[in-house]
Amino acid sequence: MPGLLERLEAGPVICAEGYLFELERRGYIQAGAFVPAVVLEHPEKVLELHREFVHAGSDVVEAFTYYGHREKLRVVGKEDLLEPLNRNALQIAAEVADESGALLAGNICNTNIWEPDRKETHRAARAMFEEQVGWAVDAGADMIIGETFCWTDEALVALEVIQAAGKPSVIMFALDAEGLHDGADGATACKRIADAGADVVGLNCSRGPATMMPVIKEIREAVSCHVAALPVPYRTNAEMETFQLLQDRDCNCLPETGSFPTALDSFVCNRYEMAEFAKDAYADGVHYLGACCGTGPHHIRSMAEALGRQPPASKYSPDMSKHAYQGTDENIPDYYKKLGEAYDSFVS
Ligand SMILES: [Zn+2]
Repeated sequence: MPGLLERLEAGPVICAEGYLFELERRGYIQAGAFVPAVVLEHPEKVLELHREFVHAGSDVVEAFTYYGHREKLRVVGKEDLLEPLNRNALQIAAEVADESGALLAGNICNTNIWEPDRKETHRAARAMFEEQVGWAVDAGADMIIGETFCWTDEALVALEVIQAAGKPSVIMFALDAEGLHDGADGATACKRIADAGADVVGLNCSRGPATMMPVIKEIREAVSCHVAALPVPYRTNAEMETFQLLQDRDCNCLPETGSFPTALDSFVCNRYEMAEFAKDAYADGVHYLGACCGTGPHHIRSMAEALGRQPPASKYSPDMSKHAYQGTDENIPDYYKKLGEAYDSFVS
């Protein structure tokens, strides 16, 4: 079975992300701490979502260990769950990867303890990466994804740990409007990671298609390795560059914390916008594509189709020719086609 790098040489590789948001919406994860205890409490829900994303075209099954690290579990007082949570998440993902032929990815992310001037936090972060990557190696991971980093140096440590494990690496930053916490812009940070030998570098989360694309173009220019682009499916803009900044001004009942993260619905990109992003990024030479928080399988399917794929879910892609009013099929009564013209005049 071809590995990540062979697949990237041959064409696009699609990776569905966004498990936290989707399982929060479905009622199995608590917003706030966003700890993926669902892999222990409702493993069948995680299994099903992995399957839905693969059905929709994801080439990668990313073990749901995001924010399942030692620091997050310490914050919620459940450090004893650290190892079972990680091993369960990997086992669930491995089951879907095995049955589908998709790649099994281990996952590490920002530790939330990194402080630039405190060396002990760097050692602690490295130890957190080592334990999680070790469990991923035990589970037979084909690759390791390190994501949503906001410190270049923290991402470098993550890369070193992945390299020491001998696994292909995908390292991605979550880029604020002002850049990373260390002041680096996306291209500068990715260049450092690429120069250190990462297989894939890029951005995920935080930015929607409109505000991620310009930075992705700079990164593509700056590095010679493969580039990753996994925006959140939200309509970020020049004024509100990341989804954390989006404020729904048409809503008069927002929670005190604002639209992020539980009231972003009115900003969601439709599947066609995500398809356009995938097509445009691929044309620019970006081969590792997907989408992050907020993503549903319909987004992934449209992105896959825009990249020339026909995943199993394409069997159910829209065919409006048999719609009761808007259909053009000969089996639709003329009387109803006539009624449907009202829609047509509205659309045009
Ligand atoms: Zn995300």
